[in-house]
Amino acid sequence: MSRFFSDKLSALEPYTPGEQPRDMVYIKLNTNESPYPPSPSAIAVIESGEADLLNLYSDPTSRVLHQAIADYYGISSDRVIASNGSDEVLAFAFNAFASGKSLAFPDVTYGFYPVFANLFGIPYKTVALDDTFTIRVEDYADIDSTVVIANPNAQTGTYLPLYKIEELVAQNCDRVVIVDEAYIDFGGESAVPLTDRYDNLLVVQTFSKSRNLAGARVGFAVGSADLIADLNRVKYSFNPYNVNRLSMVAAAEAMKDRQYFTECTRKIIETREYTADALNKLDFTYPVSMSNFILARCDQISGKELYQKLKSKGVLVRHLSDERITDYIRITIGSKEQMEMFIQKITEILEELK
Ligand SMILES: *Cc1c(COP(=O)(O)O)cnc(C)c1O
Repeated sequence: MSRFFSDKLSALEPYTPGEQPRDMVYIKLNTNESPYPPSPSAIAVIESGEADLLNLYSDPTSRVLHQAIADYYGISSDRVIASNGSDEVLAFAFNAFASGKSLAFPDVTYGFYPVFANLFGIPYKTVALDDTFTIRVEDYADIDSTVVIANPNAQTGTYLPLYKIEELVAQNCDRVVIVDEAYIDFGGESAVPLTDRYDNLLVVQTFSKSRNLAGARVGFAVGSADLIADLNRVKYSFNPYNVNRLSMVAAAEAMKDRQYFTECTRKIIETREYTADALNKLDFTYPVSMSNFILARCDQISGKELYQKLKSKGVLVRHLSDERITDYIRITIGSKEQMEMFIQKITEILEELK
């Protein structure tokens, strides 16, 4: 830290992204990316001349992208805001709806929520997940804070059905409820339709996981036109050209290519079920996942040791130090071939322990 760094931020603990080592080629199952390339039409539109226009700013109103998202959900485009990754729209939302107030979120969830809260000086409280790592909606009933949850939940993959989300939103009608649906396309039902009826619900999604565009950095939020206008006030006070040209057209095409999206998400879901069964046979336990990862543990070996042994065998998974899940590893669902290799390596490691 230089002597110039803000005192106010001196205690800041930044988010730690999953590692991206370059020392060898790993089977990369640690950051919940898609194993599949972007939609061919997303690549084609970048190559069709958009790059020649990079001397010009991108459209600050993100018109083509907002329209593609609005068409997908059958809503008007003034209820959509696109962002530079969903992390950015989460930052806008925290500023718009929690600054000067407080936040509440689960004790085990996406690591960025507390990081943003600390960066923006927003006090927060955490609410414990139950023993099955599921959110108890009742626990948020009398909470006098802006609520943010991920559904399916980050790190655990556990899912709340839509009627539970509706209960959560209805019981907090005087506070904004942010539902981060980064993993919703792997078998869950989106709360976007509820935004027609609840003016306090903001749904956040990303192109990074189910739409194969993590490197393009595109996310978005859907809510009432008023909530979206609030987020635009923050966006235009921070970074009006937040979505770059190439990412904007690529994401719009990815949204339109429903067939490719459905095919990729179907494969991930199938491979997840294959992986869960195989882990079960190896005596692993895990909460039921509705996401593109599984949080699993095995009594014979600690999470940290398993992570290290897998890494030495060329497979990267995530080991998180949060106290409640430190015995676990988080395994991103890759291609079928990658997961077969992963299961083979795990089997070897368990054999070697004997
Ligand atoms: C991956 C993830 C994000 C971040 O997505 P980007 O769009 O890549 O910024 C947000 N929330 C959750 C819960 C995630 O897992």
